[in-house]
Amino acid sequence: MKYSLQILLLIIIGHLNAQQVNCSFVNDYFRFFQNQNDYNNFLLNKEKIISAFDENLDLRDEITIPVVFHVFNKKNSDFQVRIPDVYEQLDILNDAFNAQNYDLKYVPDTFYDLIGNLRINFCIGKKDESGKVIKGILFFETEENNFADQYVEGDNKRLKIKHKSFGGSDLWDPQKYINIWIGEMSNNFGTSTFPGINPEYSNEEGIVINIGNLKKNSTQKKTIVHEMGHYFDLYHIWGNNPGCENDDEVEDTPLQYNYYSGCPKGDKFSCGSMDMFMNYMDYTNDHCSLMFTKGQIERMKASINIYRKSLIINNSLCDIKIVTDLFDGIDFYVKNNCISLVRTYFPDEVINVIIYDIRGREIYSGKFGKWETVKNISSVYFNSGLYFIQLNSGKIVNTKKIIIF
Ligand SMILES: [Zn+2]
Repeated sequence: MKYSLQILLLIIIGHLNAQQVNCSFVNDYFRFFQNQNDYNNFLLNKEKIISAFDENLDLRDEITIPVVFHVFNKKNSDFQVRIPDVYEQLDILNDAFNAQNYDLKYVPDTFYDLIGNLRINFCIGKKDESGKVIKGILFFETEENNFADQYVEGDNKRLKIKHKSFGGSDLWDPQKYINIWIGEMSNNFGTSTFPGINPEYSNEEGIVINIGNLKKNSTQKKTIVHEMGHYFDLYHIWGNNPGCENDDEVEDTPLQYNYYSGCPKGDKFSCGSMDMFMNYMDYTNDHCSLMFTKGQIERMKASINIYRKSLIINNSLCDIKIVTDLFDGIDFYVKNNCISLVRTYFPDEVINVIIYDIRGREIYSGKFGKWETVKNISSVYFNSGLYFIQLNSGKIVNTKKIIIF
């Protein structure tokens, strides 16, 4: 449901004083403005720009956006983020933005036809620095509590975690990469900046995720999807403040009185319609966080085209994807259109390798011999897209989803 700009304004103004439970993106964003007027004008102007977006201007079919993870592990903490945890977050993003999440089937019939698919892939970015290739998963250690919440002293507009000079990590060029900082947050699961940020603060652009979201049994692993939604200009689905007059500026999301948390059982209703608490832009946990709507996809497309078009690139800034947990003793790499399997030790067995496409059709079948160290599977088999690779030793069978860029 789409409401007037004035109503949106009321929502945002009201929201500034509201206590956020899950996501602090509005408060976080307000800090970049001198006063309330500047902020209001910015939002009004943004809605005008988004509304005027030329619908014929579309995203290309296959898009890959490089992301950079700046991970701040807390010294001596029981939980330390490792590379597979980061790839898990990347997989969650790719599932959500390609409508490939296995739990999409739990979207109720009422909303099933509204499911949208942005068809964007995210990859780990890379960059050359003095002739050396740097991979976009950066690890740091901090001794500070709640480091991801802390502002630079005397400057409540800058978060320490985003600046090397304050113990954080400087962002990579936000015109080319999306920056994601992971660190300990006190009260939030995450936050994000909106597009169109004041150039003075462009070195703050990006997403911050609470490190606890990545723990094994966390039910907040999909917070990264919610924050990416904000990064592409989506508001909260209930309109940020309680009330049926508040909206999110998207046509096909029903009005909703307030947010939901946890995972509600059964259908819920407010404001005269069924509530879409299974939308990524609500506050529900992973079990209930399942979909974007077509309207939200259109808004994100407009936003990317208007504000972040330079992110839509070829995959030249993508790093090799490494998945190490596919099969014991075999490392696995995907680079552009080529798959490589590398043995790290030599169990006395032949491994059968089969690759299926998303419809279950066998695309490739081959053997990884006992004494082969590397098996490269050539690009001739693949177009960009989602595949399943299965390794079978006769005793162990393991299947993994892969994305070929
Ligand atoms: Zn949020």
